[in-house]
Amino acid sequence: VFEYAPAPESRSVVDIRPSYGLFVGGEFVDGHGEPFKSINPADESVLADIACADEADVDRAVQAARTAYDTVWGPMPGAERAKYLYRIARIIQERSRELAVLESIDNGKPIRESRDVDVPLVAAWFFYYAGWADKLGYAGFGPDPRPVGVAGQVIPWNFPLLMLAWKIAPALACGNTVVLKPAETTPLTALLFADICRQADLPPGVVNIITGAGETGRALVAHPGIDKVAFTGSTDVGRQIARTLAGTSKKLTLELGGKAANIVYADAALDQAVEGIVNGIFFNQGHVCCAGSRLLVQESVADEVLDRLKARMATLRVGDPLDKNTDIGAINSAEQLDRIRELSSAGEQEGATRWSPPCDLPDRGFWFAPTVFTGVAQSHRIAQEEIFGPVLSVLTFRTPDEAVTKANNTPYGLSAGIWTEKGSQILWTAQRLRAGVVWANTFNKFDPASPFGGYKESGFGREGGRHGLEAYLNV
Ligand code: NAD
Repeated sequence: VFEYAPAPESRSVVDIRPSYGLFVGGEFVDGHGEPFKSINPADESVLADIACADEADVDRAVQAARTAYDTVWGPMPGAERAKYLYRIARIIQERSRELAVLESIDNGKPIRESRDVDVPLVAAWFFYYAGWADKLGYAGFGPDPRPVGVAGQVIPWNFPLLMLAWKIAPALACGNTVVLKPAETTPLTALLFADICRQADLPPGVVNIITGAGETGRALVAHPGIDKVAFTGSTDVGRQIARTLAGTSKKLTLELGGKAANIVYADAALDQAVEGIVNGIFFNQGHVCCAGSRLLVQESVADEVLDRLKARMATLRVGDPLDKNTDIGAINSAEQLDRIRELSSAGEQEGATRWSPPCDLPDRGFWFAPTVFTGVAQSHRIAQEEIFGPVLSVLTFRTPDEAVTKANNTPYGLSAGIWTEKGSQILWTAQRLRAGVVWANTFNKFDPASPFGGYKESGFGREGGRHGLEAYLNV
């Protein structure tokens, strides 16, 4: 099922237009806000002018979604909706090179990741939810659960296409129509997805893509014609949205930030654990909500693990996202780079020790060398705040109780990792961690059949799996 073309290394496979409109009612239309530019983070060149949706444009998109919901998509039998979702999934596979290259250009992530992880998962998500569309009466929500209506969906820039798939696939499978706003720094693959919806003959208005920054997102979630809001992004913006929706009857799910602990016990297979630590924090430049950004290593093996980790970090290649050998691509924006620099400086000022391997960074574009901080205290900002970059904070522990206490000591609770050869230790630890996902002897594994979501300030609601249907159904 998951076949895709190999080696999408060349920019020539994508056709980036000079300017893009909004996708409303099945057509690309002008926006009435001030257009903005999408920038290639690897060289700071302008990729395209992007339309900005103002309040009237948001209203038009919501109306288009409502009309499609009332007249076509809501009444359509699930088996018919499934055909469209399967068709979209197959077109994603057919156009996977184009999608992967465009994602790497717009986001800065290594092509190896967009090609081997993001795009295959995007297709997998559409296949998986296509399978549910005609089986909702057997999902444990009663014999005939109904769609919620029109969903307003706002997503971040770290996995532009994958977050789109997490939002759109379950919504459509359940019979809802959507208005989705991608992040302002990564709109291009969502607009390519709009083109895929047309290619799949999806009825006009079922999917609407509106571009713009926070103002556009704010207008979308506040629009009275929206029945359900699904947001993935920062905890700050999640809180603002919760406040906007308080007192309305809109449904809400929030997928927010994280500060995951990756716990390495002394008995772990250390080389395997080091690979997991590297994957946990350097995958996607650390722009991952569930990134293993805090290493908790048992004291007796801490020096050994750090030596092996530094040796491994010295082999990581930072550079051109379209080079198949690249491990760490560009930081997505100047703003994000500033945030990573600011928090890293705070780490030094608060007394932690900073280390990076020798690393030639390109002159233009937004780059940050893989970095590890040792001597980190629990109170340090780099142990509490989400850095969202390739920066690892290392803490040590002596006993399993201490590991769990430290792991739970942040406002977040999205994910965690455990490395040990003992099954009983995995279960003991996992049961005590306040995190929506716990990986054991692996990290950053995703599957559309598995629910994903947070505890505490990482949000509420689950995406993925049967549980992910619940947000889009009136049971
Ligand atoms: P962000 O909150 O700044 O922006 C996310 C989206 O919200 C963007 O599309 C933005 O334009 C929009 N937005 C901004 N202000 C808004 C407002 N007032 N009302 C409505 N929409 C608004 O986050 P970001 O910097 O794009 O993404 C990084 C964050 O996303 C990190 O905190 C990361 O942990 C989180 N994230 C979470 C998950 C998860 O599943 N839990 C997944 C990926 C990313």
